[in-house]
Amino acid sequence: SSYFRSLVAGADTKIPIANGKYVTAINFDNAATTPPLCSVLKEIACFAPWYASVHRGKGYKSILTSERYDHGREVVKQFVKADKHDVVVFTKNTTESINMLAYALATDDKQQVVLSTDMEHLANDLPWRDKFTIDYVAITSSGRLSLENLALKLQTYEGRVKLVTVTGASNVTGYINPIHTIARLAHKYGAKIFVDGAQWVPHTPVDMKPYDSPEHIDYLTFSAHKMYAPFGAGVLIGAKETFEQAIPVYQGGGAVGLVSQQTIEWDSPPAKYEAGTPNMMGVLALITAIETLSRLNIGDIHNYERKLIDYAIGGLSTIPGITLYSTRDRDEERVSLVSFSLEGMHHSQVAEILSQEAGIAVRNGLFCAHPYVEKLLNLSEKEISHYQTQNDKTIPGLVRISFGIYNNLREIEGFLDLLSHVAKHRQYYARKYSYVLAPDRCG
Ligand code: PMP
Repeated sequence: SSYFRSLVAGADTKIPIANGKYVTAINFDNAATTPPLCSVLKEIACFAPWYASVHRGKGYKSILTSERYDHGREVVKQFVKADKHDVVVFTKNTTESINMLAYALATDDKQQVVLSTDMEHLANDLPWRDKFTIDYVAITSSGRLSLENLALKLQTYEGRVKLVTVTGASNVTGYINPIHTIARLAHKYGAKIFVDGAQWVPHTPVDMKPYDSPEHIDYLTFSAHKMYAPFGAGVLIGAKETFEQAIPVYQGGGAVGLVSQQTIEWDSPPAKYEAGTPNMMGVLALITAIETLSRLNIGDIHNYERKLIDYAIGGLSTIPGITLYSTRDRDEERVSLVSFSLEGMHHSQVAEILSQEAGIAVRNGLFCAHPYVEKLLNLSEKEISHYQTQNDKTIPGLVRISFGIYNNLREIEGFLDLLSHVAKHRQYYARKYSYVLAPDRCG
């Protein structure tokens, strides 16, 4: 664990907390954004003198930059075992990728169905709503995706389902979905499958499988900033034909062949989907992060993070007043995050206490997965409408901890000790932090 920790920049940064004390920051909010790998920072610094425009110019540095950038597509494909005919489009992040795909797949036929699920991040829900008939696969009482309900919905829509769009791993419960079983089902009914890999790809080996496999993943996206590579890159992977057929949402230089004022000759994908000067440094950061994670072995990373989350879940479940929004079953497939609430205390107070008392950064609120958290909390439409219309700042939500490769058991122990103390002295802490009233609405 100390080797993993040594690879990440700023893992031992000192930060101020209450009473003017300084402590080593503990970051348990890796599901939002991870700190950079040292290898990423080094590569960016080393490459900077060679940096030039991508796909624009015959200059030596421009050619070198373009080669590096395009080679990045192969690195991405290998990392997730994409089919050799897939194209990799570099984007800004997962949200942009999903919006681009939704535009690429949309037609005038609004009767076509996209099956999303009750456990999606809003990025994998909102872009589909206005372009398709959308329906949501239900979750079970423990918050797992219901495969029975998926099969039922696929049958009910009788061939109208164009796409099943589902997260690889939930950013609220950490559950990993049985993606290949879902793919098999979707394909059986003539639908394609898109996987939101934002919380999945950085934490577990991913295999998109070849086109001739019934378990093939048709489309996949993920974000570099959640896998130790800042600077704003993401990817969208899928079959070339999808991108060949549709008109891209972003249009401009770099996406076209010859243009007149009457006609456009579109370039072939992925260039067609990358109008404007590409984010070379973002892509370089992503490629370097992938190379480092591959060298460490993503399977080993998964096993290490699994130990962390099992330990945290075990500890949380012994603290009186804590409700866990996840099963404790060690056989369940999951990534290294979990959400909880503490009875009698608002989620934003818990987050503030952890930050102010011990420099522990967690996330609280609805985590941009509003319908999922609303269902986990059994909120009625009437209650939701109350919070929407009354501007009531006590909006419900959860507290989430999420680990990266550099976190360790000692940090979790400190977190559990503090939380046990808070649970035991709830009134004292609730009074001390009574000023905390303004949770993050998106979370
Ligand atoms: N999907 C999931 C499951 C996520 O956790 C996130 C990030 N919170 C996103 C999509 C959106 O990612 P980004 O902000 O990088 O676009």
